[in-house]
Amino acid sequence: MKTFNVPIIYRSPLITAIKNRRKQQDRMKKDFTPTVLDFGPLKILLARHFGFCYGVENAIEIAFRTVDENPGKRIFLLSEMIHNPHVNNDLLAKGVQFIMDTAGKQLVPWEELTPEDIVIIPAFGTTLEIESKLTSLGIAPLQYNTTCPFVERVWNKAEQIGQQSYTVIVHGKPGHEETRATFSHSRSNTPTVVVKDMEEARELATFITGERPVDGFYSLFKGQYSEGFDVTRDLQRVGVVNQTTMLATETQAIADYIKNVIMDRYALSAENVSERFADTRDTLCYATNDNQSAVTGLLQEEADLAIVVGGYNSSNTSHLVELCEVKLPTYFISSDEKLVAANEVYHWDFHHKQELHSLSFLPAKEPVTILLTSGASCPDALVEAVIRKLLSFYDLEYKMEELAATFA
Ligand code: SF4
Repeated sequence: MKTFNVPIIYRSPLITAIKNRRKQQDRMKKDFTPTVLDFGPLKILLARHFGFCYGVENAIEIAFRTVDENPGKRIFLLSEMIHNPHVNNDLLAKGVQFIMDTAGKQLVPWEELTPEDIVIIPAFGTTLEIESKLTSLGIAPLQYNTTCPFVERVWNKAEQIGQQSYTVIVHGKPGHEETRATFSHSRSNTPTVVVKDMEEARELATFITGERPVDGFYSLFKGQYSEGFDVTRDLQRVGVVNQTTMLATETQAIADYIKNVIMDRYALSAENVSERFADTRDTLCYATNDNQSAVTGLLQEEADLAIVVGGYNSSNTSHLVELCEVKLPTYFISSDEKLVAANEVYHWDFHHKQELHSLSFLPAKEPVTILLTSGASCPDALVEAVIRKLLSFYDLEYKMEELAATFA
């Protein structure tokens, strides 16, 4: 896979060495067991896959290069480039401005932009409406485009099945930048509706089967369907694509569920179901799959707690947390700074969107075993800093050098 020129501050020579070692031993990526870092009283089980994905590295490389190559120019990002506060703050410190926040609220009025300005499209991509807006302002919308190719692949799939007269069901968070962009691209080709989870998929199914009167659809899915969506006509032939960072297992479950509903409704079999249900399995992003499978591998191990590092508004990170917290106490932290002491931690409760302050953290036993992973927009340097901080609680910082020598 292509390598990117990412600022060195985001790298960790230690984590890179560990990842390279694992890659050499398992080129086909079949082994999802964690890397065991045994420090005696502290044992850290590091996920097989975590951290920056292709799309994030690509976006970071383009954004920082654009800043370096355009001194004196005003540079804007449509919104947060990726959902990591450290990377976004570094760009802000270099003078880059965000036009919108992650919810789509305007921070810089469009009228303030001029044709001389540079506007960078983030890794999630953007809507066709915003592309048109930029064009009308004299700014070439795709000149500085960091849209991830794996997101574009979803758009292409939606377009392809749309051209075959399938309605597109997008499994995604309706307010997320990527889902808004995918919805925009898809609805330009075909009727499109967004479902955020299995519960909404079940609601949608009642309109496919005709169990519910069609009028209910428009209030239940307000803001989530394309203009002119006709419930009777547009739910007869469908395909499911996703926001690439959703739980892969949930997307698959939703697709399987809708497929079964369609088969029952139209008395179809596995042989002819494609007449009304499009196969879209190849749109799942490799990084989401790898990172989530690595957490499944982590969870096979006995441990006392899990730490997941990433931006609090990062969708892919919150899904890793969701997987871990089913099995054991899980702390979602944005950096090592949140680990205040062995018995004190600040951590994010993504269900209620609030930061919690907990005073029981590391159990008073030895050894303590911790599962550790991070989201696709989290620099490896932060994961290394978390390992260092945990070691400091046991006066074991010196072990870091031994570890580095092991993987050198
Ligand atoms: S998670 Fe996947 S789709 Fe999203 S930016 Fe990374 S590689 Fe691209």
